[in-house]
Amino acid sequence: MSSEQVTLRQRKGEPVEATAEVVRYGSGERTTRAGSIAGAGVVLGGLSILIPGVHLISTWLLPLLGLGIASYYYRIRAKVGRITGTCPSCGEAMSISDVGTVTDEAVWVRCDKCSHPLELVLAES
Ligand SMILES: [Zn+2]
Repeated sequence: MSSEQVTLRQRKGEPVEATAEVVRYGSGERTTRAGSIAGAGVVLGGLSILIPGVHLISTWLLPLLGLGIASYYYRIRAKVGRITGTCPSCGEAMSISDVGTVTDEAVWVRCDKCSHPLELVLAES
């Protein structure tokens, strides 16, 4: 985890800066991880051909599941821990914990003091 400056956008008003603990996943790392998950699905699906009955479903379901999980993991660009800064709404020092994974979609967080909604924007890596 490293500390980064992030931008918190509001529905109304100026965006504010805050500090967040961020772990970034580079594209090489994401490709390797997604590839190994998809590969594991194919291998497990292939092995399950030995199980009578189950193999009718598992031989295509497991590779498909592997691909689904792989694409989910591939979309994760970063993981965000705690965000600290000053809330633009209530003016209190806020500390938002365990924000979670960041994909291509918008991530909304709430001030832990007044629940003011803020959109988390990571700087381009
Ligand atoms: Zn607040």
